Amino acid sequence: MHGVVIVGAAGRMGRRLVANIMDSGKFFLAGAVEVEGSPFVGQDAGILAGCGEAGVKITASLEEALANGAEAVIDFATGNVVDAARMAVAANCAMVIGTTALTADDRAALKRLSVENGGRIVAANNMSVGVNLLFKLVQQAAAFLGIDYNVEIVEMHHNKKLDAPSGTAVRLGEVVCQARQWDYETAVKNGRSGMVGKRPACEIGMHALRGGDVVGDHTVIFSAEGERLELSHRASSRDMFARGALLAVEYLLDAPAGLYDMQDVLNLK
Ligand code: NAD
Repeated sequence: MHGVVIVGAAGRMGRRLVANIMDSGKFFLAGAVEVEGSPFVGQDAGILAGCGEAGVKITASLEEALANGAEAVIDFATGNVVDAARMAVAANCAMVIGTTALTADDRAALKRLSVENGGRIVAANNMSVGVNLLFKLVQQAAAFLGIDYNVEIVEMHHNKKLDAPSGTAVRLGEVVCQARQWDYETAVKNGRSGMVGKRPACEIGMHALRGGDVVGDHTVIFSAEGERLELSHRASSRDMFARGALLAVEYLLDAPAGLYDMQDVLNLK
């Protein structure tokens, strides 16, 4: 059994991560962390997740949480992932980061942690197996179909999501750009409004819908004269993100130092 600490343990993802760990038979909950001042600090993480007592109280100190036999940290919080990663690496723990909207500086700092401090880190905007296969299929379609197939990306999420477009939609856009050798900043148009004129061929329309309790839908549309191909993924539960995060932990247990993504974990490169 491998000990795992969850950062953001009271969040929507954090609770499902706690539940999946308690149900796994392979991992145990070594610690649960929330932001300083959270009303959930001091509560049992398992009871909060709705799956019985875990015997692990939520703490505001990652350092304290790391002291109970942890081999890995999973962070789906909305705080500073680089600080958390630094502490995890210093404690010789693998680090899995699901938090989205990381900046280029965050990514550079994570890369340095892997190179200079021997960190074993997976960072991925989407941990689902299906979505990671979608990245691969979109890459093939974008390369195969050619420029006369216009690409539009549509995503929908629940009304509490903070960032837009979703990290997954951004990644889908990057995949198309890589396949067609386009520059992302030039190619992507976030929404359209007003007299925008005829659609250029080298454009990716990006559309973020928000509402209700939608866990996460992504569709990439390739449209040409006379036909349309749509590649879609729909998430109906957060558990598949949690299961993907645990696959990432398993991968890192034996991996050399490095900054990886889910394509590495799932051997899709
Ligand atoms: P949420 O708001 O429900 O939960 C975030 C939790 O993090 C909150 O409980 C908050 O108190 C806690 N938090 C904030 N700062 C913290 C800190 N410094 N230390 C500890 N805890 C802290 O959000 P959510 O829906 O669970 O999503 C969390 C993140 O995960 C978002 O960035 C979201 O986009 C991302 N996400 C990623 C995937 C994926 O597969 N990679 C899937 C779903 C969500």
